[in-house]
Amino acid sequence: MDRMPGTPGTPGASGTPATTATSRRTLLRGGLALGAVAAAGLANSIRADADADAAAASVDYPSAVWSPASTGNYTASNRTTSYPIDLVVIHVTQETYTDTIRLFQDPAHAASAHYVVKSSDGSIGQCVREHDIAWQAGNWGYNTRGIGIEHEGWVDQPAYFTTAMYHSSAALTAAICDKYGIPKDRDHIIGHVQVPGTDHTDPGPHWDWVRYIRLVNGV
Ligand SMILES: [Zn+2]
Repeated sequence: MDRMPGTPGTPGASGTPATTATSRRTLLRGGLALGAVAAAGLANSIRADADADAAAASVDYPSAVWSPASTGNYTASNRTTSYPIDLVVIHVTQETYTDTIRLFQDPAHAASAHYVVKSSDGSIGQCVREHDIAWQAGNWGYNTRGIGIEHEGWVDQPAYFTTAMYHSSAALTAAICDKYGIPKDRDHIIGHVQVPGTDHTDPGPHWDWVRYIRLVNGV
């Protein structure tokens, strides 16, 4: 979990939803002056736009539940065209799962992560699409390169780090590594604590890295 540090200087400049809405209104205004044939084409283009919106509201990891963050809490992007992805950053929420999802939906929170893993059963919520840049690491360079995974719990309460959570999260990280060609090692699967400039300690001393990396590698 993180807050303002590491967000870009002008996060508002990345507001693609506003841009999309504006261009759609422009299309609609233009449509009124068009003939029937052109209007049919316009209808198709609006449908295509709606399809694109529907596609945006879906998950990158099939078993994840789409729980979208406010668009004010991440930077829209088109990774890996805009930036390569070569890091997975492991976090602990210091909040409940439900409160974490709620905070990411608060446009004033100024932080987000791509995924949140629930302690009790390892279920996964996806809050930010992988091609977008979550404000998760408190370091813009690391944010651009990273996929952030939050784990429900507190760094000083190891009981939250359940077997279900380890297995589910490791499977997610393995899938991300396979998709982007990220080595499944501690140089590329890092804790928030390892991000330069951070004052965060997560996932903390109780996170079992040996176990986690072994699970990510399927051994
Ligand atoms: Zn963190």
